Amino acid sequence: MPTFVYMTRCDGCGHCVDICPSDIMHIDKTYRRAYNIEPNMCWECYSCVKACPQNAIDARGYADFAPLGHSVRVLREEEKGTISWKILFQDGREKNFESPIRTTEWGTIPSPAELDVPSAEAMKSQELAHEPDALNIDGGLPTLKAASQNN
Ligand code: SF4
Ligand code: SF4
Repeated sequence: MPTFVYMTRCDGCGHCVDICPSDIMHIDKTYRRAYNIEPNMCWECYSCVKACPQNAIDARGYADFAPLGHSVRVLREEEKGTISWKILFQDGREKNFESPIRTTEWGTIPSPAELDVPSAEAMKSQELAHEPDALNIDGGLPTLKAASQNN
């Protein structure tokens, strides 16, 4: 399941609208609150969840994130520079963890327009733009080895 907005928390700031890569977070013209206009087009990227300053967006991820029926509540605290995650499982268990809002300075990640045009060979690569440089990994992305090579 995708995201949804707690109307009583949302103040209509529009941060989720600006950041959504799927362009599905919109502001309701009557109530001036955000809502997901096309839930089945949600990538569950959590960008809007992390950007919301009012802790107003909830998400129900797929089973690859946590067993179905869970709830993810996210609290962005700008002054602390952190995002706190609370995952509530169906059976009542709760997990909490905290991550930095970001680990790089604003403006230090070049936009695609600032990069060289990829070569024909690069277009066949499985690496994404900025990889592996943006991941701070020396020697390329880790790869799985065939079972015989692991023995
Ligand atoms: Fe858009 Fe991502 Fe939020 Fe889904 S989780 S509404 S795709 S920003
Ligand atoms: Fe509402 Fe949060 Fe979206 Fe702002 S970022 S419009 S408070 S849901």
